[in-house]
Amino acid sequence: MANGKVNDRDYYEVLGVSKNASNDALKKAYRKLAIKYHPDKNAGDKKAEQKFKEAATAYEVLSDPKKREMYDLRGSAGLNDMGFHGFENSADIFSNFGDIFGDIFGNRSYRERSRPQKGSDLRHDITISFIDAALGSERQLRFTKSEACEACNGTGTRNGAPAVCPQCNGKGRVENARSLSVKIPAGVNSGSALKLSGQGEAGIRGGRAGDLYIHVKIGSHPYFEREGLDIRYDAHIPFTKAALGGEVEIPTLSGKATLKIPKCTQSNQTLRMTGQGIKMKDGRTGSQLVKIVVDLPKKLSERQEELFKELEELEQD
Ligand SMILES: [Zn+2]
Repeated sequence: MANGKVNDRDYYEVLGVSKNASNDALKKAYRKLAIKYHPDKNAGDKKAEQKFKEAATAYEVLSDPKKREMYDLRGSAGLNDMGFHGFENSADIFSNFGDIFGDIFGNRSYRERSRPQKGSDLRHDITISFIDAALGSERQLRFTKSEACEACNGTGTRNGAPAVCPQCNGKGRVENARSLSVKIPAGVNSGSALKLSGQGEAGIRGGRAGDLYIHVKIGSHPYFEREGLDIRYDAHIPFTKAALGGEVEIPTLSGKATLKIPKCTQSNQTLRMTGQGIKMKDGRTGSQLVKIVVDLPKKLSERQEELFKELEELEQD
């Protein structure tokens, strides 16, 4: 028999009710079974767990007029066709029947204590370099994480003396050192958080694990700046090259590239190096935007001065 799956078990029989049982009668019957086979009272008892799931599935079907009608008509095959497959685990049952469990145990505190709880989310802050953020990288994280004690299966108790689990002192949980390799995607933004589902603290009583949020801070770069997927860079070139045109070597994210300087390039003009920006996983790629800063000579030789004077005369013509 598959875990909680819709099978050929007679649901009326499972709940011990007649074919024309009222909703009240169903609820009453289900409560009785749920209390009897509740995971809190039957920790580690596979048979009880099976019964618990079976009763929940039966109740889910018979308390829903549509499912009940289908079941009466065509049995479990009809339910399967409806896409109903029963319950996979106790956490699903609690999330489905939270209210009825509240009823069963009458008081809220018991209900709170007995319900599966999602594990706490964890936060981890990292700072990565500008280049690692632009190109993507991998980080090894080390942290401690509260997890269910393996010695007692998270119950905190054990059979025999002492009755309290010595591994976790009865807390049911232990702090474990964990390490995790995290892929940081290219183009991650400073201040953003990467979510690693299920990597937070372990859930309680079958609840799902929390999530791990990695908050990313990005260091600055001595000469690159980011603008979306583009990389900004200021290139200083001598005034002669700006006037005559030529080539310069420009540092890029991945190394170096040659940039063609057209004739008569002006100071503050921006030249685009397509494809040299951040490459996202989805295929979007930025450019490197090179702002040209034209440097004038800081002092002139005699010869240079002569030539400048000649130029000046030319301009006056
Ligand atoms: Zn323990």
